[in-house]
Amino acid sequence: MGVTVLRLGHRHYRDQRLTTHVALTARALGAEKVILSGEKDEKIIGSVKDIAKRWGGDFEVEYEKNYRRIITNFHGVKVHLTMYGLRVQDKMKDIRGEKDVLLVLGSEKVPGDVYHMVDYNIAVGSQPHSEVAALAVFLHEYFRGKELEKVFGGAKIKVRPHECGKSFFTS
Ligand code: SAM
Repeated sequence: MGVTVLRLGHRHYRDQRLTTHVALTARALGAEKVILSGEKDEKIIGSVKDIAKRWGGDFEVEYEKNYRRIITNFHGVKVHLTMYGLRVQDKMKDIRGEKDVLLVLGSEKVPGDVYHMVDYNIAVGSQPHSEVAALAVFLHEYFRGKELEKVFGGAKIKVRPHECGKSFFTS
């Protein structure tokens, strides 16, 4: 099972931190790839690649201006996260049955046609909040908590979990 996250509508000045957090959350919680769309931002792409290299695993970062092409050509189940969608707790059983998932996240207003291009419009609670929160909850439900056991192979740096204070391994 693989999850690709498609982040729509990145705006250079407003969304830098949030888009970076979308990518890092996707990586940390089990997704294979993030595709950024909207304004191209080499700084974010570079910094996420750098973190992925140092902290291990096979996470990929790509940019595609034409996000509709990504949605149209994706082979697998296409899920758009939106507070207007059906409840994640009601639909996750069906979504989990599919091998590959494209998870579409907005930033500013998501164009109406996106709602019709996907297989599911899914809400993580029917209240407005954040794409990072929606992504994290969706991945946690999708992987049933197993994402927290993921091993990041080839890491140059690892945290040694500690009751108090900070401790790292480096190689
Ligand atoms: N106003 C925008 C719209 O109408 O599409 C949404 C803005 S919201 C800050 C940014 C993104 O967070 C949304 O596009 C959606 O992907 C995600 N999001 C926010 N609340 C959500 C919820 N309750 N369930 C699922 N996704 C949510």
